[in-house]
Amino acid sequence: INRIVKREQSGTPFFSLEFFPPRTHSGALNLISRFERLAAGGPLFCDMTWHPAGNPGNTEKPTSSTCIAGTMLNYCGIETMLHMTCVGMTVEEIKENLNKAKDLGIRSILALRGDLPEGDTEWKGIEGGLNYSTDLVRLIKQEFGDHFVICVAGYPTGHPECSSYEDDLRYLKEKVDAGADFIITQLFFKPETFLDYVRDCRRIGINIPIIPGILPIQAYQSLRHIVKLSKLEVPSEIIQMITPIKDNDEAIRKYGIDQAVDLCKSLLNAGFRGLHFYTLNREVAVREVLKQLGLWKDKVSRSLPWKKTANYNRSE
Ligand code: FAD
Repeated sequence: INRIVKREQSGTPFFSLEFFPPRTHSGALNLISRFERLAAGGPLFCDMTWHPAGNPGNTEKPTSSTCIAGTMLNYCGIETMLHMTCVGMTVEEIKENLNKAKDLGIRSILALRGDLPEGDTEWKGIEGGLNYSTDLVRLIKQEFGDHFVICVAGYPTGHPECSSYEDDLRYLKEKVDAGADFIITQLFFKPETFLDYVRDCRRIGINIPIIPGILPIQAYQSLRHIVKLSKLEVPSEIIQMITPIKDNDEAIRKYGIDQAVDLCKSLLNAGFRGLHFYTLNREVAVREVLKQLGLWKDKVSRSLPWKKTANYNRSE
């Protein structure tokens, strides 16, 4: 967080990269080598999502997010943030998972409530569990003090379950007041959506860094899947551009790169310094976007695996 704030103040742009846990053991090996290649680009940090129910259709035991995040940090030497949700866990189990993360040397948590379990239409929670990400932020602060840097999720068009955009902003303010250090947003398609959101956040006293979540469109079907899950609306101009080329993966990817570069340039020109990329565990499109933005460092050598340890100095 210190580095995010410093970078924002110094005006040096930075980026972060999000991955999800692989479905299979061979997928894990591929992903680890991908971390190493992408780390060469110089992300400020990478993060690993959390999926309580495991991966659908997977016959192998799901690879745990904590374990992959630990590998990212301790083997690949990448500053790592672990997502954690409240779904299906008691407070005791959440604390156990936070302790595991701490033991692995992880210093940043993206504290989330999590999506509704499949088939549910409203949040039910479980006995002895937590109901909102604010509760998780409070628990982390209460149990671990300032050990973890805490990130929370923000929704530039409002969270789909919330009664109104304004209410959702108020709940975001509660997360911040509970101790969140920075915000990463849901993906969005137009720069003005993010600019308006940040203005509205600042208006109600949310003053911590807000990092825009960027999804380079990589395939027609995956975009449809993501917007359905997140209940987002794709602007008509994007639909008009991609519908005629929906069966041409190469053309869609090129369009996605151009669209993401334009979006990021608008945000950088508006003075925002950080960009968070939803990689979907792929590397070609994100690397190309970063290269076109001039943010890809192409370091010849990466940090040695043992450079970052559980005791590294968080203010470094
Ligand atoms: P919350 O902030 O708890 O909000 C949930 C809903 O409750 C919202 O509608 C909010 O307005 C409302 N609310 C909040 N507080 C109150 C209150 N006090 N009273 C009444 N209503 C309230 N999902 C995963 O499963 N794994 C991941 O790794 C993951 N990573 C994500 C990363 C990012 C950057 C983002 C933006 C989302 C991610 N998600 C992930 C999706 C996320 O879990 C869902 O969007 C989920 O539905 C909401 O989580 P939250 O932490 O934003 O919830």
